[in-house]
Amino acid sequence: MLEWPTIVEKPRGQAVAGRTIYIIEDEQDISELIRFNLSLEGYKVESFPTGEAGLRAIEEVAPDLLILDIMLPGMSGLEICRRLKEDAKTKKIPVIMVSARGEEADIVKGLELGADDYVTKPFSPKVLHARVEAVLRRGSEAKKAVEVVKIDGLEINAGRVEVTVDGQRVNLTQSEFRILHFLAQRPGWVYTRVQIVEAIRGENYAVTDRTIDFQMVGLRKKLGSAGHLIETVRGVGYRFKDIQ
Ligand code: CA
Repeated sequence: MLEWPTIVEKPRGQAVAGRTIYIIEDEQDISELIRFNLSLEGYKVESFPTGEAGLRAIEEVAPDLLILDIMLPGMSGLEICRRLKEDAKTKKIPVIMVSARGEEADIVKGLELGADDYVTKPFSPKVLHARVEAVLRRGSEAKKAVEVVKIDGLEINAGRVEVTVDGQRVNLTQSEFRILHFLAQRPGWVYTRVQIVEAIRGENYAVTDRTIDFQMVGLRKKLGSAGHLIETVRGVGYRFKDIQ
């Protein structure tokens, strides 16, 4: 029997197309815009106008990723996030929050509840798509600590507890080293001050969320030409620059 060759179009989305994304968003035009654009990239997208409807659907079939509006009628996005992250069955579902400008306090809360990333309205579909791909890609990477990070002249050697910039040794305090190594594990990922403190605090490290800002200033100064790799995310926290 003669068979026509199958033409397989390479999806524009890099290795993560074909996955299911749920959107919980009450503003229909935004929800529709996201759905339309992510569908074009090869994702299977379903949208829900309320947290109650979204949670019911997630309970039936978990998506690969959830795009979650913070300001919703009824159950808020933060409450939805809290419920998902508390439940062993749903806590691994990556969450990208959608917030309005000026809602930094909610973004901080959401990140601390376990949300993976956020976008601020108005956002372009291109930006959202990039975040979706980044979150899915990071989720599929092994979570073991990277021993040596090399980026843009900066080299962090965790085993030797050593940092060099353009081959020159940089002397960091233990807590500065821990902060840098922690952030550099996941470039582009925003961490709140509280998350950074929790991640690096050991018995001997007197670091609080208030002293983080001072530590960052000192760390950037010591890193010199590589100092720009640590970015301040206004009102939210810090991240290591994502250079791709
Ligand atoms: Ca809303």
